[in-house]
Amino acid sequence: MADKKRIYIAYTGGTIGMKPSKDGFIPVAGYLSQTIANMPEFYHEDMPEFEIHEYNPLIDSANVSPQVWQTLALDIQKRYHDFDGFIILHGTDTMSYTASALSFVFENLSKPVIVTGSQIPLSQLRSDARVNLLNSLYIAAHHPINEVCIFFNNQLFRGNRTTKQYADGFDAFVSPNYPVLLEAGIEIKNIAGQTQKSVNTRLRVSELEAQSIAILHLFPGLDWQVLDNLLKSPLQALVLLTYGVGNAQQDEQLLATLKEASERGILIVNCSQCLKGSVNMEGYATGHALSEAGVISGLDMTTETVIAKLYYLLSQGLSNKVIRELLVTDLRGEVR
Ligand code: ASP
Repeated sequence: MADKKRIYIAYTGGTIGMKPSKDGFIPVAGYLSQTIANMPEFYHEDMPEFEIHEYNPLIDSANVSPQVWQTLALDIQKRYHDFDGFIILHGTDTMSYTASALSFVFENLSKPVIVTGSQIPLSQLRSDARVNLLNSLYIAAHHPINEVCIFFNNQLFRGNRTTKQYADGFDAFVSPNYPVLLEAGIEIKNIAGQTQKSVNTRLRVSELEAQSIAILHLFPGLDWQVLDNLLKSPLQALVLLTYGVGNAQQDEQLLATLKEASERGILIVNCSQCLKGSVNMEGYATGHALSEAGVISGLDMTTETVIAKLYYLLSQGLSNKVIRELLVTDLRGEVR
């Protein structure tokens, strides 16, 4: 058919294409393409044409890095005009980080970029890979999506709003603070109706570089010396995982340490340990003290997105003042 859509599949690795071995599942070159070639449903007349580009080496997504994100972004940029949509096959472990990072790297997307994978390899009985990949291909060809999404367990999510919630369940992903975009049931239904608008401006692809970022999860009795040591290392940003709406122990040593580090130019972002809801540092005295110490609100962003946004902003050569402003600004639908 002349008007068939063409979808580019960047296969980076992950469970979806793995093969059983004596040491457990391992990625094997050529195995996924060969498995797909033997599944007639992928060549159904309503399906788009697709081309699979297998990365070398195929990786477990635990090994993903900003360099991999940059490679993916440049790969898609190179083929942007030759295809109608893009699918990234990726392990689930760091899928939300990758989707978040790519959402920042791509500006003015007017084609779908859907990241998917599976909990059981495509070649295995009861695999969720078939449904995830078939639907991703179908949606990429038939729905006007202009952003980086994750498709998993019959739901299409805004990528930078997701987090992996379930280690071994099929509903691995959740979007705690933003509605699901599409749901694939008997029909593919628009749930949120708020996918990003298409723009006529040229695609922009930004650089991403490795940065020195750390996360510290607060807990009762945490020795502040640990924080002090962390902030003495050559750090550019620290994500503090706080209680509830962004509260921390009201401890003079903690606040003094944070204030001093913030004045030295370390960006300290307050994210909640809660999955749902938003940081509000004006809610309690324990949160307010943090904002007085120069801590920036992570609002309702996921930790994955805050990390990805820090990588992105720190790679753009911006001043700390601008980065502080942009961190709390909605750039790609990642924050309320
Ligand atoms: N460890 C795998 C990965 O993230 C898990 C998966 O693909 O689901 O690559």
